[in-house]
Amino acid sequence: MDPKARVEEITRLLEKYNYEYYVLDNPSVSDAEYDRLMQELIAIETAHPELRSPLSPSQRVGGMVQDEFKKVTHKRMMLSLANAFNDDDLRDFDKKIRDVLGVNKVRYMAEMKIDGLGISLVYRNRLIYAATRGDGTIGEDVTSNVITIKSVPSHIDLNEEYEIRGEVFMPKKSLERLNKEREITGEPLFANARNAAAGSIRQLDSAIAANRGLDAFWYYVVNAKDFGLRYHSEALNMADKLGFKTNPERRLCNGIDEVIDYIAEYTEKRPSLAYDIDGIVIKVDDMDMYDKLGYTSKTPRWAIAYKFPPEEVITKLTDIIYTVGRTGKITPNAVLEPVRVAGSLVQRATLHNEDFIRDKDLKIGDYVVIRKAGDVIPEVVRVVKERRSADVIDYKMIENCPVCGSPLTRVDAMHFCLNPHCEAKRIEGIIHFSSRDAMDIEGLGEKVAEQFFNQGFIKSIADIYDLAKYREDIISLDGWKDKSIDNLLAAIEKSKENSLEKVLFGLGIKEVGAKTAKVLSRIYGDIDALAAASEEELVEIPDVGPVLSKSLVAWFGDEKNVQLVNELKEKGLNFKYLGSTSKAANSYFSGKTVVLTGTLASMGRKEATTLLEDVGAKVTGSVSKATDCVIAGTEAGSKLDKAQALGIQVLNEEEFLALIK
Ligand code: NAD
Repeated sequence: MDPKARVEEITRLLEKYNYEYYVLDNPSVSDAEYDRLMQELIAIETAHPELRSPLSPSQRVGGMVQDEFKKVTHKRMMLSLANAFNDDDLRDFDKKIRDVLGVNKVRYMAEMKIDGLGISLVYRNRLIYAATRGDGTIGEDVTSNVITIKSVPSHIDLNEEYEIRGEVFMPKKSLERLNKEREITGEPLFANARNAAAGSIRQLDSAIAANRGLDAFWYYVVNAKDFGLRYHSEALNMADKLGFKTNPERRLCNGIDEVIDYIAEYTEKRPSLAYDIDGIVIKVDDMDMYDKLGYTSKTPRWAIAYKFPPEEVITKLTDIIYTVGRTGKITPNAVLEPVRVAGSLVQRATLHNEDFIRDKDLKIGDYVVIRKAGDVIPEVVRVVKERRSADVIDYKMIENCPVCGSPLTRVDAMHFCLNPHCEAKRIEGIIHFSSRDAMDIEGLGEKVAEQFFNQGFIKSIADIYDLAKYREDIISLDGWKDKSIDNLLAAIEKSKENSLEKVLFGLGIKEVGAKTAKVLSRIYGDIDALAAASEEELVEIPDVGPVLSKSLVAWFGDEKNVQLVNELKEKGLNFKYLGSTSKAANSYFSGKTVVLTGTLASMGRKEATTLLEDVGAKVTGSVSKATDCVIAGTEAGSKLDKAQALGIQVLNEEEFLALIK
């Protein structure tokens, strides 16, 4: 193809992908595919410099700013990073630096390249704003969302202006939990941690961000020189002391060989980290050299991002089958010839919806590229058209529910079975109700729920509590013995005593995840009080917000749901919150911001946090002027020193236990 036409074609594609990635937080191609196109563009532009426009995607920071947010002009541009894909690229980068600086060896800082969303924080004693990178010059003000991240200090012990940048990310555990909840509440799953983090921070409703379990690592102090610091490593140490969470895996490397060894080490360690990384960032440690090395319009010349090779494999798409979710949503799934990707065997991959299949032009019998996105959900990246044979079968979306046969209704890109009696929805609802974070009925998992549903023993959630009358029928089924049915019936009986938040989550109300159920239970104490709450009242609750309030009010407004709750009450289920309610507790800690440090002898950090949160305290990770009190166990370190320096109340374990009672 003529190079000019190819440059135009790639530019169009990259602009489309940038929009999907930065604005919609919903990319349609993998990062590897995007990077491949970008490298091709750079190669053509290098061979034909006359084709390189200043507006080319290779010359500009890719992000964009959405109108819904207040805009922030960055005092110093927030740039992207140049990429390295192998040792040769790294050695080239190092050689250029050594040539400019006229030295034999350079000291680099090697850091985790966190797969999240770049954010800049500006403090003047307190946090003034938090902004996204946007187009590099203008970012979006996302302060109200960023401040919901517990490890982000609201105040620091410095009077001068201080700007620090870092990455907000979603830990693997949070992503797993969130996707599990979204599966249950019928919302689309996040393909990877980056999209989930970006989608959560760029929410207009900060209650949503607050519920997403986000965290952040801070990796660059913009005005470190104002504090007399010369080295990036020193700036990170100072950030640590100020209470910012910096990444402990970072390492100073003397020369590029040490960097290459570090990369090899972390290629191995990557799966065991609690968060996703997509590469390693290498920065010159001596910040005095930055201006000398300079900048392009898009990247600094004193840093580079090494990107890990993608884990992609090719396999055959043998069929497309459909599942029906609890909300009736129909999801097409790829049936694949089993193949190993990123350490696990993949046989299925979600195809999301009809449009996704059409956009990718998938046909049954095609060879497809599979990738495990963010090590979570396998995704179909693209068709390998070169391997398409003549006997592939055209794809056609089904028109009827695969379970009940009702005609499907299309809403946006999704198809739904709207039949309220569709069995698939009811089975999913039962499975969710008995799941661990809900009623935690051991023994009533997916397979058993399906078996009992098909036998007619459990047709609805309420039927679970009448299961004893089928005892004899169940024993006659394969695999059931006296003991196993007794255990199950005991687990069902026991679940009646669960605290309100478990049953509330189990009811599967849209948007009500396990954490929200707990917040609501703590505030309202019992289901009748919650059912009587108005939208205006709910919206005022810090962790709730408008979308959730609407969904709750609509749920309690539906007569069928009220009947279900009444039926469950008659069967003896508890609908009261068994922890202490924040209104009733009136605890010493209610409404206080508390920091835990050191080791407590009587309980773990998690347990202490739950106890405190249960009485309405906010537990944060770092000490600042906003902290009301610090609970110090044994071996308390710098947090205790800081609390003492700031004159904040410090409680020992004994005092804490006495007050929490
Ligand atoms: P980048 O992700 O390659 O690197 C720059 C970013 O890395 C910084 O802005 C910062 O936010 C982040 N970062 C993480 N850890 C860091 C650390 N320790 N120090 C410094 N920075 C750190 O560049 P980009 O411009 O943000 O995004 C481009 C990349 O995004 C592409 O290479 C591609 O992988 C992906 N992308 C994908 C699509 C798609 O459709 N799939 C579209 C656009 C971009």
